[in-house]
Amino acid sequence: MVGQVRHSTPGAPAVAESPFATLRRLALQALLVACVVFAASGLGILTRPEHQLASFWPTNALLLGLFARRPALASPAGWAAAALGYVAADLLTGTSLPTTLRLTMANLAGVLAGYLLFRHVRHEDRRLQHPLSMLWVLAVSAVAALGAALAGSLSSHAMMRMGFLTASGFWFSAELVSYVAILPVVLLAPTPAGFVRTLRGQLGRIRQRPALLLPGVALGLAILLGVLIGGPGAIAFPVPALLWCALAYRLFTTAVVTLLLCMWTLIAIATGLIDLQLEATVQPVISLRMGMALLAVAPLTVASVNAARNHLLASLNHAADHDALTAVLNRSAFLRRGRQRLDQARGDGTPVAAMMLDIDHFKSVNDRHGHAAGDAVLAAFAQRVRTHLREDGLFGRFGGEEFAVLLPGVDADAALAVGERLRHIASEAVLLDDGRALDVTVSVGVAVSSGSGLDRLEDLLHQADNALYRAKAMGRNRVIASS
Ligand code: GH3
Ligand code: MG
Ligand code: MG
Repeated sequence: MVGQVRHSTPGAPAVAESPFATLRRLALQALLVACVVFAASGLGILTRPEHQLASFWPTNALLLGLFARRPALASPAGWAAAALGYVAADLLTGTSLPTTLRLTMANLAGVLAGYLLFRHVRHEDRRLQHPLSMLWVLAVSAVAALGAALAGSLSSHAMMRMGFLTASGFWFSAELVSYVAILPVVLLAPTPAGFVRTLRGQLGRIRQRPALLLPGVALGLAILLGVLIGGPGAIAFPVPALLWCALAYRLFTTAVVTLLLCMWTLIAIATGLIDLQLEATVQPVISLRMGMALLAVAPLTVASVNAARNHLLASLNHAADHDALTAVLNRSAFLRRGRQRLDQARGDGTPVAAMMLDIDHFKSVNDRHGHAAGDAVLAAFAQRVRTHLREDGLFGRFGGEEFAVLLPGVDADAALAVGERLRHIASEAVLLDDGRALDVTVSVGVAVSSGSGLDRLEDLLHQADNALYRAKAMGRNRVIASS
């Protein structure tokens, strides 16, 4: 067998799709879009007073999020299916044909405007991975809301019994709050399997640290306070608790919490549960919705910054513990983790095997084939050993072409067998990018802890090193146990 280090082109050659399969794929995609638009519009229409816009219209943000995440859905067929979904939902709930067409045109104009801008947003920003990502989402939301507001109020301000400017502001603010609250949830939504995994992970974290519930409890109390005190300031009461949620929870959870809070506030105000003590005119409603949309940017920005910081810390931790060339543990991380494993094994009374591995005549590999070829051999060797070892085994690069292995629960006989297998897989040829095949061998020294409780990791590795020295002296390419 020949070990590959060549970077092969990923994926098999593309198989041409049959016309029938293409048609079927497009039809299924269009059906999905139409169903989402129809169902979401039905929900929105339920909250629509007569001659007014819906209090909560999730469809446009859902559609834009869907198109942004799956651009394949935004085909001509996808857009047509979306139009059909809007029209069907309105006609079936008794809206007249001219009004239905006007509303559909406005909705699609908004989604299209947002989509055109979204195409320029980087992938990391679509996943809210950067501190400024939420401002991108706000910009897309504002453009989409403006598109819908202009197209909608040009054609329907008379129907809404308002002047053009008021109708535009009313429409814009309703759209803006929906986009800002819903888009992040759609953009971050995991797959169903990922969702279950995340939920289990979160519940596990909460069980370990019940204090994680506190930000949620604080949010509940702030909402209650808003209901009790009322007034225009009530919409800002939950902000500190929301920021706490943003720092404590995952990005997606924060997005869901923010969406629920926005929906709750809109419903609580519409039903009079939160009494803002505002006159019953349109302008305060516009102001309130815009205020809510802009408030929602804060927790999500904090959550994005936090996610970016956690990601950076994880990369730094990984870089501090791993060797850059081979991606295995470096010496200090190996020693730190190795001591923990040895302590654990001592507690359990199980043996621990240590091995030192050193590639034979490696200097001549460099001399004959160049340093880059030597690097490729090191990377291939490390990769093979790593994939061969069990999950609980430790593997690290101690420097140059010298590596160490620690295997908890492995006795002397088993350790020699593992050493032999590693020696065997190391001898498989390494194929370089330019087609050259290099053969190397490795010498292995093995030592096993006595389980007496007196072993120190350094002593164990020293014994393995002595055994390695003997393996070299006896002619290399062999596994020797410490005496
Ligand atoms: P022995 O069989 O006795 O172990 O001989 P050897 O040639 O393998 O051992 P020696 O210690 O004499 O040489 C090790 C060589 O490894 C020397 C050094 O140039 C090379 N080396 C160390 N680190 C790297 C690296 O990161 N990349 C490459 N390409 N070579 C390295
Ligand atoms: Mg060597
Ligand atoms: Mg060496």
